[in-house]
Amino acid sequence: MEFYSPTDLKDALRFIEHGDRNVAVIASGTDLLPRMRKRQISPSVLLDISSFTEDLRYIRESDGKIRLGALTTVTDLLESSIFDGKLSMIREAATLFGAPQVRNVATVGGNVCSAASSEDLIPVFMALDADLKLVSVKGERAIPLRDFIVGKRETAMKPSEILTEVNFSFPEGHGWTAYEKLGRRNMLIIALVNEALSLTLEDDLQTILSARVALNRVSGRIPAPAAKTNEFLKGKKVSDETIAQAQKILASELSLTSDFRGSGAYRTEVAQVFLKRLIERCSRMIGGPS
Ligand SMILES: Cc1cc2nc3c(=O)[nH]c(=O)nc-3n(C[C@H](O)[C@H](O)[C@H](O)COP(=O)(O)OP(=O)(O)OC[C@H]3O[C@@H](n4cnc5c(N)ncnc54)[C@H](O)[C@@H]3O)c2cc1C
Repeated sequence: MEFYSPTDLKDALRFIEHGDRNVAVIASGTDLLPRMRKRQISPSVLLDISSFTEDLRYIRESDGKIRLGALTTVTDLLESSIFDGKLSMIREAATLFGAPQVRNVATVGGNVCSAASSEDLIPVFMALDADLKLVSVKGERAIPLRDFIVGKRETAMKPSEILTEVNFSFPEGHGWTAYEKLGRRNMLIIALVNEALSLTLEDDLQTILSARVALNRVSGRIPAPAAKTNEFLKGKKVSDETIAQAQKILASELSLTSDFRGSGAYRTEVAQVFLKRLIERCSRMIGGPS
């Protein structure tokens, strides 16, 4: 196998310009290398982008947008004060992520590009309706995360592209975010269910202006926003009745598969419980009913 260590991003993009080699970009390798060891994938070339930290490791806030460079690590997220308040779900997800050794190297870009159903940051960024910035020698393009993941471990990224940034708006007005994750242990938790919510209430602090729930197996093993639940919640008062109806809609739109970690039925029940907790937690933090 070939290992290419480009001098800079331009060099890396030129290397994959024609998209005709079996190249895998490697950031920190915490997802890629175990998969290679298990022979789930066999790239011919590894393109190492891990040294581009000056260009691709940043957390920036400007014009109401948060921008995360693809090489930002999970520990960077944990340590940033940007995630103290309304965006505390990012800190919650980072806290429940792997173990310190993994968090210190695992990158935001690697998490998103792995497109795996158990990843922590994918539902979080989906609940924030994040956009991704992809670059190639031809220039750059933006794509919403919800359109980026097109199948189990499949993305809309072309072989000639590299992900450079994840960005999303800072929740406006009476907004808050929260995250829940269930696994079978307290460390190195592989998510049975993970679920994120970004909730905004109207000025009356009772009515839902917008709700974006996303979780890891909405359709088969693909993480996605819970579109029907989100649509239902819009304009409803936060109440036990609204939550009970939303739980039913969530269950009906989930297609949760059973595997050796848990049955689809159990996962569905957990997802419903999480929905209630998430709505109540966000509403309480905003100052609404809980
Ligand atoms: C022990 C252990 C525990 C873990 N626990 C968790 C956990 O709790 N939660 C969780 O979500 N994940 C977990 N993971 C999975 C993994 O750590 C994350 O997915 C991590 O964010 C991947 O980042 P990375 O930099 O290592 O990506 P890599 O392994 O380098 O890459 C992952 C994939 O993304 C592609 N890629 C990476 N960066 C780019 C880029 N900039 N542009 C284009 N393609 C790119 C690679 O080609 C590869 O397909 C765990 C892994 C291990 C080994």
